[in-house]
Amino acid sequence: MSVPESFGSMVFDDRVMKSRLPGDVYRAMKQTIKKGKPLDPSVADAVAAAMRDWAVSKGATHFTHWFQPMTGITAEKHDGFISPAPDGGVIMEFSGKELIKGEPDASSFPSGGLRATFEARGYTAWDPTSYAFVKGKTLCIPTAFCSYGGEALDKKTPLLRSMEALNRQSLRILKLFGNTEVSRVMSTVGPEQEYFLIDKELYKQRRDLVYTGRTLFGAKPPKGQELDDHYFGAIKPRVAAFMDDLNNELWSLGILAKTEHNEVAPSQHELAPIHTTANIATDHNQLTMEIMQKVAERHGLVCLLHEKPFAGVNGSGKHNNWSLSTDTGMNLLSPGDTPWENAQFLLFLVAVIRAVDKYQDLLRMSVATAGNDHRLGANEAPPAVISMFLGDELTGILEAIEEERPYSAADKTVMKLGVHTLPRFARDTTDRNRTSPFAFTGNKFEFRMLGSSNSIACANIMLNAAVADSLSVFADRLEKAEDFDSELHDLIKECFSAHKRIIFNGNGYNDEWIKEATEKRGLLNLRTTPDCVYAILEPKNVQMLISQGVFSMAELRSRYEITLENYCKTVTIEANTMIEMVRREILPAIEAYIGSVAETAAKKKSAVPDLECRSEKKVITKLSVLSDLIDKNAEALEASMAKLLTESDTSVSAFAVRDDILPKMAQLRAVADEAETLTAKGYWPFPGYGELLFSV
Ligand code: ADP
Ligand code: MG
Repeated sequence: MSVPESFGSMVFDDRVMKSRLPGDVYRAMKQTIKKGKPLDPSVADAVAAAMRDWAVSKGATHFTHWFQPMTGITAEKHDGFISPAPDGGVIMEFSGKELIKGEPDASSFPSGGLRATFEARGYTAWDPTSYAFVKGKTLCIPTAFCSYGGEALDKKTPLLRSMEALNRQSLRILKLFGNTEVSRVMSTVGPEQEYFLIDKELYKQRRDLVYTGRTLFGAKPPKGQELDDHYFGAIKPRVAAFMDDLNNELWSLGILAKTEHNEVAPSQHELAPIHTTANIATDHNQLTMEIMQKVAERHGLVCLLHEKPFAGVNGSGKHNNWSLSTDTGMNLLSPGDTPWENAQFLLFLVAVIRAVDKYQDLLRMSVATAGNDHRLGANEAPPAVISMFLGDELTGILEAIEEERPYSAADKTVMKLGVHTLPRFARDTTDRNRTSPFAFTGNKFEFRMLGSSNSIACANIMLNAAVADSLSVFADRLEKAEDFDSELHDLIKECFSAHKRIIFNGNGYNDEWIKEATEKRGLLNLRTTPDCVYAILEPKNVQMLISQGVFSMAELRSRYEITLENYCKTVTIEANTMIEMVRREILPAIEAYIGSVAETAAKKKSAVPDLECRSEKKVITKLSVLSDLIDKNAEALEASMAKLLTESDTSVSAFAVRDDILPKMAQLRAVADEAETLTAKGYWPFPGYGELLFSV
């Protein structure tokens, strides 16, 4: 099958609906998808029947409400279509009721206290804005997951609410500009996904990779990424075969996988799709991560999505390209061709500037996980300090407006004041900044702090809500204005003045910037998860998220709890894995090796009595000292872990994890890694970095 033929072949998309649904049902569905109108329940039966017939024709035997609990991954419970027929056979059944609502037992999903376990029931509700699809033998229906009290137990519900808030506020602004033909504004997202591919046989030999997705030990190999010879390098046949297979699967699910290349670290790669609405992009990114792992297995590989699988080489992130577009096809973050469009563009631009400055803590918090903490602040990733890159031209224009002076740049026309008289300015394609956490890239922003395993829902919820907040404040003011032009001008000027500290066009990886950002500009440097999780309960943020209708107070508290719990659990599993590896693999291996060296030395001595046995003595001495240290450091870690168990307050635990457990893990690793460099390869109990990183 050709690509255009197979593209979306497993998706109940518009083409299928058009051909399989009765005209009136199809039109009702379209209204729901496009305009967010609630679906008439009477239509649901017809849709369900068509969906079932189509799914069965694709080989499906089961259906599931596919949802995104707060674990950050997706969940599904399969139900068969079969229903007994009076003649002893079965028929394939699927009703509108089953399509619209499901009732999975919710008790084992994290709820952060939103739901007491005795009232375990939750329900899933169909999200008709994301197409149903067939995966394997199952019809998957994208759904939102809520408690019986109506609180969101998932990541989709608040994402949809944030998109709605942004739509509402954007429409108010567009109306003020006389833009009445637009009936819907959507946030669009294209997430660039980084990942590592390693050999499956090697993976299986490492408990740390199996249990935690990252290496907890491993001496630095002689070669890492110093030569920069992997980035955009030729793709090896085994990886190319994987990518080929992956693309075909993604395309059949209607996922617009577009760009693929090798990344900076050895064995690291990236996949970028073409952007789509935030909701669908989120569903698609979840599917992409799942399918990457599945396809890798088929190729004898393992796909690592952890943010920092290997120390000493780059970690993996996810660049969240974000913009706003209208149902009439206009990108609101694209500087337009006319002054009028430019004024509107500048207003949306300062809305984002205000949002990122005012809610920097919330944006940082939205990407906080134990895994991503290793990456932010390390030399490859954006720093934990949030700043925005606008490029020289846009910054210059805003500065000119602020200072009420004409804008001029080499060979560009002088810009007169008054936003309605701004001349056109060229989209600046020359400046690029790779180090900024939040960069304007011509017609969209790229938020680069997301970790490779993060659900992109979290960051987009906060981004959408924060920008909706800016726009609502702007609309409140502009709707009352007597002279729209001058009010608009003052608003842009004041807003830029108040929030320009967030704009930084220089190198974000440099220490002086961190100093300037925190000391001179008062920007936040929230380096770890325990440092930033407070943000979700900070009064200004709570007020904003509740007033935009994105979260309730109870939902926010639950997210706070879950973030901390997750952080503590992740590191606890890592520490326990380290202890197990040390006690059952590393120490026995070192002892065995010392024994064999000692035996060799003894034999040599008995043959040649005055031999010095220099190398044997050195190895035995060094390794004996190291094995004592390993034992001592493991004991210290064990003691800290025992103490952690007695703590019931998660926020206290999180700080203990950060300030006590993680440093003890680092100390244990350091001595074990040194021992690795002195132990014969055949004795070391698992494959080292050299093999892991350079064998595919
Ligand atoms: P760049 O080279 O500037 O990074 P690309 O065109 O290669 O730009 O796009 C990179 C990513 O940005 C892709 O995933 C793409 O889908 C996404 N992207 C492009 N335009 C938009 C937009 N308007 N909204 C959201 N994402 C976008
Ligand atoms: Mg990019």
